[in-house]
Amino acid sequence: MNKKLICTACGTQYNTIDSLNAECTICKDDRQYVPESGQSWTTLDELQNNYGVIVKQLHDNLFEIKSSPAFAIGQRALLVLTPQGNILWDCIALINEPIIELIKSKGGLKAIAFSHPHYYTTMNEWAEIFNCPVYIHQKDEQWIFNRGNHISLWNDTEKKLWEGMTLINIGGHFPGSSILHVPFLSKEGTILIGDTFYISPSKKHAAVMYSYPNRIPLPVQEVQRIHKQMFKIKFDTIHGFYDYQNIYSDAKQMILDSLAKYS
Ligand SMILES: [Zn+2]
Ligand SMILES: [Zn+2]
Repeated sequence: MNKKLICTACGTQYNTIDSLNAECTICKDDRQYVPESGQSWTTLDELQNNYGVIVKQLHDNLFEIKSSPAFAIGQRALLVLTPQGNILWDCIALINEPIIELIKSKGGLKAIAFSHPHYYTTMNEWAEIFNCPVYIHQKDEQWIFNRGNHISLWNDTEKKLWEGMTLINIGGHFPGSSILHVPFLSKEGTILIGDTFYISPSKKHAAVMYSYPNRIPLPVQEVQRIHKQMFKIKFDTIHGFYDYQNIYSDAKQMILDSLAKYS
C-alpha cells in the first residue's frame, strides 16, 4: 500500500506530512497557487483505483503519457526510445500495471530526467520500478521533498546523455529549469521543454515567465540571456508541457521571435 500524500492541485508527493494540517510547499510558492477550495490530498493507491493512463505515439520513437481524466496541473510525460536505452522526460503522478508493462515491452528505462519540480511527483516510485537514475539539476535541489536512492543531481549548463541527447539548463521559470535536446526525432533536432517555455494556443508565440498561472514575469535581462542561449541550440521541433503543445516545424524561429519581443 502506498499512503504517501500527493497534492491534488500540483501532483507533488510528500513523504512525511499528514493531511489534517498539511500545506503543499509547491502550491504555496509564488509560481503556483493554493486553490480557493483549499488544499486536498490523494495517494498513489487512490489514483490507481480512479484514473487510467493514456499513451499516444507522436513519432516512431516518441510517446506521450498522461492520466485520464487529467490530474493536478495536467502534466504529461514523454518517452523517447533509442537503441541504447529509453529515457522518460518528466513524470505523471499515476504509475500502474499497463504503463509499466508497455514501457517494459519497449525495453524499460535507462533514465528519467526532469524539466523542473512541477513534475517530480511519484518519481521515486517510477525509478524503483525501472531501476534507473533520476536526473535533476542541482539548482532545484531544495524542491526535492522525497529524496530516493535513484536521484542523481547534475550541474553546469549541459549534461551529455547517450545517442547524442543532451540535458541543457536554461533557468528562468526555476533556476534548474532544463530542456532535453534530442537530435534524431526531426531534421534539425527536437527539444522537450516542460514549461521552460509556455507555448501559446496559436503555437505562434511562446512565453518565458517566473510563474505562468500567476503571470509573474522574469527580469528582462534574464529573458535576454535565455534568448542568446536559445540562439545557439539547433532545433525545429518542440514538445511542451501540455498535449496540444507540439510544434513540428520552424519552432526555433518562433521561440527567437517571441523572446525578441521583450527587448
Ligand atoms: Zn501542491
Ligand atoms: Zn512549472
